[in-house]
Amino acid sequence: MTTTFPPHSLDRLEPDLVRLRRDLHRHPELAFAERRTASIVRDRLEALGLVVRSGVGGTGVVADLDGTEPGPRVLVRADMDAIPVTERTGLEYSSTTPGVMHACGHDAHVAALIGAATMLTDMPGLPGSIRFCFQPGEELLTGARRMIADGVMEGVDAVLGAHLLSPFSLAATSSSSGLSARPATAGRRSRPSIRSSLPRRSCAHFNRLSPAKRDPASLWW
Ligand SMILES: [Zn+2]
Repeated sequence: MTTTFPPHSLDRLEPDLVRLRRDLHRHPELAFAERRTASIVRDRLEALGLVVRSGVGGTGVVADLDGTEPGPRVLVRADMDAIPVTERTGLEYSSTTPGVMHACGHDAHVAALIGAATMLTDMPGLPGSIRFCFQPGEELLTGARRMIADGVMEGVDAVLGAHLLSPFSLAATSSSSGLSARPATAGRRSRPSIRSSLPRRSCAHFNRLSPAKRDPASLWW
């Protein structure tokens, strides 16, 4: 089955997603304190006509998009928390919260998933269904467990997650199947979804992967 993405292209969405990501970057929130972020996510999803569940696993937000054709239910996940780092980038959209920064890219993850939700809700003939999952507390390694305990995986056939990674060049992506604690080594290049809003930066938790990170209960890293 072939599907397309009318009517608004990614190019039309991009300025809004860049603004959203920069707003989130200005207002980072630590694990399980992502209340402003979750509120913005909820408003965005409701504006798309989706029924939203808040407070999942703490401050998590979930919404289902049911397609018009039979198919699997796919959960797509973005993490929302920032980390206790003082920003000294000098960017005009730098963190306004002392000692807290989106230094791991989760601000971009949220914006990208909002972009995906916007495009998918407009896609005719969507097969199966999509569960948009905005996860709290990824940096503490417990956010996924809490969401699972609250039932986020019920009825889910597959999970997709992604993470920005500064060792990759700006236009590079890498993918792997199964439960993954790190990206596949064989990358493939494609156009990034919000390329102009993604400065290269370090990913703090990539440097402190632990066995707990690879636990199946951790949806993705
Ligand atoms: Zn991260």
